[in-house]
Amino acid sequence: MGTTNEPGSVDYDLIVIGGGAAGFFGAITAAEVSPGLRVLILEKAPEVLGKVRISGGGRCNVTHACFDPNELIERYPRGGRSLIGPLYQWGPTDTVEWFESHGVELKTEADGRMFPITDKSKTIVDCLMGTARREGVEVRTRCEVRSATPSFDGTRWEIELINGDQLRTRSLLVATGGIRGGIGGRIAKDAGHQVEPAAPSLFTFKISDEPELLDLAGIAVPEAIASVPGTKLREQGPVLITHWGLSGPAILRLSAWGARDLQRTNYCFQVVIDWTGLGSIGAVDEGLRQWREQHQRATVIGRPAFGLPSRLWKWIVKAAQIEDDRRWSNLTRDEHQALTQKLGASVFSVTGKSTNKDEFVTCGGVVLKEVDFRTMESRLAPGLFFAGEVLDIDGITGGFNFQAAWTTGRIAGEAIADFAGTEKE
Ligand SMILES: Cc1cc2nc3c(=O)[nH]c(=O)nc-3n(C[C@H](O)[C@H](O)[C@H](O)COP(=O)(O)OP(=O)(O)OC[C@H]3O[C@@H](n4cnc5c(N)ncnc54)[C@H](O)[C@@H]3O)c2cc1C
Repeated sequence: MGTTNEPGSVDYDLIVIGGGAAGFFGAITAAEVSPGLRVLILEKAPEVLGKVRISGGGRCNVTHACFDPNELIERYPRGGRSLIGPLYQWGPTDTVEWFESHGVELKTEADGRMFPITDKSKTIVDCLMGTARREGVEVRTRCEVRSATPSFDGTRWEIELINGDQLRTRSLLVATGGIRGGIGGRIAKDAGHQVEPAAPSLFTFKISDEPELLDLAGIAVPEAIASVPGTKLREQGPVLITHWGLSGPAILRLSAWGARDLQRTNYCFQVVIDWTGLGSIGAVDEGLRQWREQHQRATVIGRPAFGLPSRLWKWIVKAAQIEDDRRWSNLTRDEHQALTQKLGASVFSVTGKSTNKDEFVTCGGVVLKEVDFRTMESRLAPGLFFAGEVLDIDGITGGFNFQAAWTTGRIAGEAIADFAGTEKE
């Protein structure tokens, strides 16, 4: 166990910078695996676990019911390959079991997202805080770390808080979240690490060239396909029209996979929507022909095809410049083609991005090849560990970001417990 060995300086086995999901899980793990370790979490905010509280619309999407690591890593635009080993060590099954063994039952929604059965993120916060307390983890809020440097003999990390206090620790876990403006990137760089610059991920698209589309705010198409011409970016799933553009899981996923490319365009690019979800103009053309045969006497505007919502259908028919009284039977060839094009490939100019209120993640962070994913320890600076969003790992929506935080926090905590244990022997 650590001791106070200098005036004004307190020695810990583990100091965690950042009281978020990854920091708490790392601290709790170290304390559970090696009882008696002196573990401290430093959090600059007045409250710990701030993002857990607001996550998932206040429900906390803890993880995803995808239990095969090979499949799971496909949900991480950055970092998936590095996570494969760690996910075999600590995956969603382990997360579910851990929460259950600590009194929190999770439920799975139809799309695979997992939430506490209470539907309240407070349940997760209470569980983590209660466990930390029981395991003797010390938590200090309103404690912002100013710097962290290795001691002269390289056996300790010296932490300075902005109030001037000094602390010492054998192991340091940096779990400061997204690197934008945070201290995590600076500590990593000072230790010789490369850090990928920050870029927003998971954002919605602002569309200004189609004001009438925005009148359809609230309409969702469950199986649309969104793509960005000139790139491989293509996602199928719900697309939601909002009062300022396009949102919904397909758009958010597109933004996550394209985070770097779209940042380079300064968020000015074209997006193409296939409202039918069929995936090719040929298939839309064929589907429309069959529909025409079956509904010859009806007006085009009054008989939406492909199960599209009638308000959206009307907008598409008007955009294809088809008159309100046109019947399916006398649709001209040009009109058929225009309709096919609008249905299968409506082109919109994106002129900006918004962050999605419900889920926002930063991509970028500590470069992964310089971290040993068997332990989450720096390959450059002994005793320095990383977990959570400070790493260059980010997932799409659905609980994957928290899973990465639990996994990397857990592995770091286990390794730190071993590491600290060696000194005690
Ligand atoms: C609105 C919102 C909703 C989300 N919902 C979900 C969801 O439902 N499911 C999901 O999987 N993901 C969700 N995410 C993403 C998820 O919250 C993050 O991926 C996750 O919180 C990352 O955990 P972390 O511990 O690495 O970082 P954080 O949770 O960001 O924690 C880092 C902590 O470090 C502290 N800190 C930073 N610098 C210092 C310093 N110098 N000194 C002391 N403390 C410091 C910060 O104050 C912070 O508390 C959501 C994100 C947002 C913004």
